[in-house]
Amino acid sequence: MLSQWLNEAPLASEDEAPALKGDIRADVCIVGGGYCGLWTALTLKQREPSLDIVIVEKNRCGDGASGRNGGFVLSWWRSFGALATFCSTDEAIRLAEASAHCVDEMANFCAAHDIDCEFRRDGWLWAATNRAQDGAWRSVIEALARHQRHPFEEWSPDQVAARSGSDKHISGVFEPTGATVQPAHLARGLRRAALAQGIRIFENTPMRRLKRTRPPRVVAPGGTVRADKVVIAMNAWATALPELSRSVLVISSDVVATETFPERLKASGWADGMAISDSRSLVNYYRTTLDGRVVFGAGGGFLSYANRVGRKFDAATPRAAEVAGYFHKVYPAFADVGIASHWTGPIDRSLSGLPFFGRLGGRADILYGLGFSGNGVGPTMLGGKVLASLALEARDEWSECGLVRHSVGQFPREPMRYIGGTLVMGAKRRIETLDDQGRKPGLITRAIANLAPAGLVPVKGYNADQPSGGANG
Ligand SMILES: Cc1cc2nc3c(=O)[nH]c(=O)nc-3n(C[C@H](O)[C@H](O)[C@H](O)COP(=O)(O)OP(=O)(O)OC[C@H]3O[C@@H](n4cnc5c(N)ncnc54)[C@H](O)[C@@H]3O)c2cc1C
Repeated sequence: MLSQWLNEAPLASEDEAPALKGDIRADVCIVGGGYCGLWTALTLKQREPSLDIVIVEKNRCGDGASGRNGGFVLSWWRSFGALATFCSTDEAIRLAEASAHCVDEMANFCAAHDIDCEFRRDGWLWAATNRAQDGAWRSVIEALARHQRHPFEEWSPDQVAARSGSDKHISGVFEPTGATVQPAHLARGLRRAALAQGIRIFENTPMRRLKRTRPPRVVAPGGTVRADKVVIAMNAWATALPELSRSVLVISSDVVATETFPERLKASGWADGMAISDSRSLVNYYRTTLDGRVVFGAGGGFLSYANRVGRKFDAATPRAAEVAGYFHKVYPAFADVGIASHWTGPIDRSLSGLPFFGRLGGRADILYGLGFSGNGVGPTMLGGKVLASLALEARDEWSECGLVRHSVGQFPREPMRYIGGTLVMGAKRRIETLDDQGRKPGLITRAIANLAPAGLVPVKGYNADQPSGGANG
């Protein structure tokens, strides 16, 4: 099933991008036409207008996670603790600041290129919906305060309940940087901007093989691209490459979109585009749309065996009733509002909860970036800067930043990953149900949940001392 978003964002016939036919040559070939690939192409073109850049996309640009996410455009402030585990404090602050700056840059880019993606800068509420979640943000706020950074506003419980339209939110902090977009409109808009700048896009062109010749070749059914630089921007699908197969855990995030009910939304107090996440390990995230729907998502869904991203990740979600149930729990007053559509998509969860970039097998001509871990709408723009610098072999603040890493943590091998992951996720889910009921989990449930290696599931909140996951993964 196409997401609600993709249904609203059909491709205009005048900007068709053909499938690849024959053998061609390019300076840079980017594999994957999501935000990461598109921002990389656009950044490269801006820095080196004469470059011949090709994007090879297996479906249509934006059909992956980029066209069907929650549309939260967030910074990495809440991930400060995770950044600081592998960067110096100054570098962690610099990257968090750069990620916040990307929200402005995205707004400016969209305005300059006439991309109407319903960009709304109404902030992000990081909330608690039960006592166990209360104060999940505390350690991040305190760590940032020690460095004179104060990106979050502390709201009173009354303010949280009033602004979110539900007193099920018992506390929370607000980050004004946050924005929302209609994600498929953003992806299609970037695609249009790329085509307008002479970037060649081949859609319905799956890379079947990456030939590690010099220069490398991308092999698709209809032809090949020989390029000085190949950039892998394939999100979860990148796990098909042996070097990346255990670097992320592929797990679903699942979404329902309601019918429109703008008047009741406005009357509830949730009158603007403020995005909201709770503080579960398996996070719930929700936002309103311009036409008056709620789009409600739940992270930590089903796992794939051996990270195979099968058709299940492109279909209607099997978790629709569960996700709608979460929605009704937080907004019982909207329990009668119909669900108009529901879908799912793959999350490329890294051990740190943050993306990583590098040279495949140490080769300077094959680059990759993945691991956005459910928070990629804003950060892929930053990822594009990193990948562009790597492709240009520039020595700058992007190519040498802490996210470019020679080694990243590996998840366990199969079948341990799948069996262990399924058990741990089940225990986490049980704990969260009990948290909602104000009950304590038993010893066995806690022991199983604690078996999670750091990053196997998104950690609760964004503890400054622990790896941190996406707001939506
Ligand atoms: C349901 C859901 C909700 C989310 N909500 C949010 C949110 O609210 N905020 C947020 O910040 N992040 C969110 N995310 C994460 C965010 O969508 C991603 O981090 C981001 O879109 C990643 O961009 P990408 O370009 O790396 O990946 P994608 O957009 O997935 O792009 C990868 C592309 O590679 C293509 N591809 C794969 N294999 C091949 C091949 N062999 N040959 C050619 N092309 C190939 C795919 O078709 C795809 O188009 C969510 C994700 C999901 C699934």
